[in-house]
Amino acid sequence: MPDASFDSAAARADVLARIARAAQAAGRAPSDVTLVAVSKQQPWEPVAQALAAGQTIFGENRVQEAQERWADHRAGVELRLIGPLQTNKARDAVAFFDVIETLDRERLAKVLADEIQAQGKAVRLYVQVNTGEEPQKAGVQPAEADGFIALCRATYGLEIEGLMCIPPADEPPGPHFALLAKIAARNGLARRSMGMSGDFETAVRFGATSVRVGSALFGARAAG
Ligand SMILES: *Cc1c(COP(=O)(O)O)cnc(C)c1O
Repeated sequence: MPDASFDSAAARADVLARIARAAQAAGRAPSDVTLVAVSKQQPWEPVAQALAAGQTIFGENRVQEAQERWADHRAGVELRLIGPLQTNKARDAVAFFDVIETLDRERLAKVLADEIQAQGKAVRLYVQVNTGEEPQKAGVQPAEADGFIALCRATYGLEIEGLMCIPPADEPPGPHFALLAKIAARNGLARRSMGMSGDFETAVRFGATSVRVGSALFGARAAG
């Protein structure tokens, strides 16, 4: 249940401090890690508190929900799509988002390439990798990642900024973060979007360059 007394500004300061400590412990600069505040399914009030506290980068998992929430607050905000993207929403997604983190199939690569060209908008792209090879989860299989990245680059002319993963909920995340980092390194990709409220410090230790944190910043989401 959403908690009306939740203080998002204080929660953000705490999360940033934990990111900085985890980075320093790993011999990394805290500024190497970007906090993406996942505002999906949250009431506006805690999101407004985070904005007022200086948070400018937000993640949403649905195109339409993001448009409804952010249309009137879009200036100065970087929006990242972190949920699965249907090809029939690609036009809206390219128009509205700065970053799409869930590129995971050839048909979507083609449609995104067409939209980026048509709109003349340089959306930044991440390839999602299904590191746990879970049948219900989006993302390319780890064994197919190199080929898919090469296809995106060579056939569709897409510039890939990095990789994203969501490890299985019931496994230690470290090996999944390590696998994503390895695939990124051998494909010349410097950016890795990995780590959520429950495991972002582990993700920073394994080389995350951005962490996607929702409930630790805004409190529990409304059901549904
Ligand atoms: C919801 C979501 C998050 C944030 O999850 P929390 O556990 O609330 O931090 C991060 N990444 C993705 C892809 C999500 O859908």
